[in-house]
Amino acid sequence: MLLSDHRAAEVSAVNIMPEYFRHTKIIATLGPATESKEMLASLITSGVDILRLNMAHASHKWVEDAMWYVREASNEVDRHVAVMMDVKGPEIRTGVVDEPIQLEAGDRFDFYTGKEDPGSEVKSVSVNYPGIADDLEVGATVLVDSGLIQMKVLSISPGRIHCEVVTPGMLGSRRHINLPGCHIKLPALTEKDKDDLRAGVGAGIDFVALSFVREAEDILTLRKFLDELGSKARIIAKIEDQAGVRNQKAIIEASDGIMVARGDLGIEIDYHKLPLVQSDLVNNCQALGKPVIIATHLLESMIDAPVPTRAEISDISNAVRERADAVMLSGETTTGSYPLESVQVMKNVIESIEPTVGNGLNSTLKLHAPKVKMLRSAAFLAKDLENSGIVVFTRSGLLAYKLGALRASGVPIFAFTDIESVFRQLLLPWGVEPFLMEFSDVDPEKTICDALDFLKRKNWKPAGTWLVVITNVLAGDKIVDTLQLRQID
Ligand code: PEP
Repeated sequence: MLLSDHRAAEVSAVNIMPEYFRHTKIIATLGPATESKEMLASLITSGVDILRLNMAHASHKWVEDAMWYVREASNEVDRHVAVMMDVKGPEIRTGVVDEPIQLEAGDRFDFYTGKEDPGSEVKSVSVNYPGIADDLEVGATVLVDSGLIQMKVLSISPGRIHCEVVTPGMLGSRRHINLPGCHIKLPALTEKDKDDLRAGVGAGIDFVALSFVREAEDILTLRKFLDELGSKARIIAKIEDQAGVRNQKAIIEASDGIMVARGDLGIEIDYHKLPLVQSDLVNNCQALGKPVIIATHLLESMIDAPVPTRAEISDISNAVRERADAVMLSGETTTGSYPLESVQVMKNVIESIEPTVGNGLNSTLKLHAPKVKMLRSAAFLAKDLENSGIVVFTRSGLLAYKLGALRASGVPIFAFTDIESVFRQLLLPWGVEPFLMEFSDVDPEKTICDALDFLKRKNWKPAGTWLVVITNVLAGDKIVDTLQLRQID
């Protein structure tokens, strides 16, 4: 029995195959502008593939409710999305201030970790990381509120950092602190992250994005914790500081995907090197066959405006040209006034740019096992056939992830699985269209026929289409891997 597909609403609304098969996926962050069931249904129908829950601002009750509404809305509109929980990792923040503090260039300002010094005449704020005074050095830069306020460390005394304000600004409560180039000794996974993950795993999240990943070991720590919780959620490493950039290859290998978290990254490294770091991350992910997400400020102006800036259109185009797996919306869909319009803009840009992007397969991807090597031939054949596609049956998702990494433009990868969590995790890789379907335990041929019939019935491909099918077959008493050329009846 066929159970579910991903874009049913988009397809059945017009009752023909979608005019354009989109390879690049769209991620939207949930927030007050989009958390109602009605808005979620619209967001899902409009083309979002993955929804992100940002744990910087979320309670566990909110997570539970959001997950319930997401699944309800998905069922109602018959289109499925994955959910990614973004945990904050070793994030440093200022404490609460009674009134915003106006800071001028040249002002003295203190950060303290213990008790406030009532005798001090210098303006000050508390910090949530007790070790900050040990990790910082005199002369270091402290950036507050996404880099808007810049300070220089003049001296350090126990539990207190004495600074001079370099760039003025207004300091509110609980502002994010960046310490570029500084080795922070905070653990990769905080107690808050663990609590958040327990709630997320209980609610059924599909991906975990870990903030400020500095080394591969951070991913192993998270993987061990998820194993203890019995979760198979895939791990996305957010690269957002200099250590993460330096150790990117090992991090990519250890994780299931990368997020180029350009918000913090643009503060932690020289901003003018951001495009180079983005390209390096994308290229290294493609060589290692891992998905890569481009995040932050893709449509920032659309938080308040119904149309994008020309620069934003170019930024999305660049991500599409680099053949990133996904582009992500943050403020645009959390608090923005035009969340649905933002998704539409992303879709429009993707659909205009993708068909113009280089036609070759990803030559940097190394495929080792013989069965995996077969994928390159499958992709090549499907491209040569034109108006074709690849059908793959997978229980782990691996073959579909690797097929996506080959970047066979114009070739949909129809990935059939009988495992619900894998079905949703296949929503991330480039060009993969997942379907949830029961497999026949006794007759692999029946499984293939069911899949081809489904693609025809749901108008994904018309009768007569030649497809490349990757599957196992019984040869005598052996199961062998095959690459087959099949025509839809
Ligand atoms: C970023 O810094 O770009 C990012 C995606 O992380 P967050 O939204 O958690 O700041």
